Amino acid sequence: MNRNIFFFLFIIVFIFLYNKSLCAENWFNVKSVIDGDTIILSDGRHIRYIGINAPEVEHNEQKAQPYGEAAKQFNKNMVFSEKVHLEFDKDRFDQYGRLLAYIFLKDGSLINAKIIAQGYAYFLGRSPNKKYDSLLLQCQRRAMSGHKGIWSRWREKKDRYLGNQHSKRFHLIKCSYGRQTSKKSRIFFSSKWDAFWEGYAPCKKCLPEYFIPQSVE
Ligand SMILES: [Zn+2]
Repeated sequence: MNRNIFFFLFIIVFIFLYNKSLCAENWFNVKSVIDGDTIILSDGRHIRYIGINAPEVEHNEQKAQPYGEAAKQFNKNMVFSEKVHLEFDKDRFDQYGRLLAYIFLKDGSLINAKIIAQGYAYFLGRSPNKKYDSLLLQCQRRAMSGHKGIWSRWREKKDRYLGNQHSKRFHLIKCSYGRQTSKKSRIFFSSKWDAFWEGYAPCKKCLPEYFIPQSVE
């Protein structure tokens, strides 16, 4: 009988310590904030937020994009020196070796979504990391409707854009990458706004800096 009680207590203590170590492992300090979608943890790892793309800040003689600094500042105000929780999806790393993650604060808020909801980044879907795609797109639509950040003072001429339903990217009609889209994956938009609204992100080759039309004033 006593043996059973000891065994039971041992299991309880084991589960408690195991959970504690798991929890401790999942919380990290943010050492620095690079921009609106990238941070460095105190252990030196670079984290790229999943599902979003924020405008660039000034780096390597590249000029900052509109709202780049604002996005960085907003991100910094939320996570700098804070403990954050990381959640991963299927692909763990991007092509630069950065860890891909969803970032949560102690109050449970998802930073990736908050940045999009404020209009400081657009939704960038990429298979197979799709866990929060519908939430992120919902946040983007709210930001667009409220004309926040990159969506404020939006002006663009109507044009024709080719979307790829598979990759969820949209292109100028003349883009050679866009032309590789199979016929059954093609979808056409008459404005960038419409493409963004449907959750498509601009091709880096043919629309490298033009995702914020009001910057071309
Ligand atoms: Zn393109």
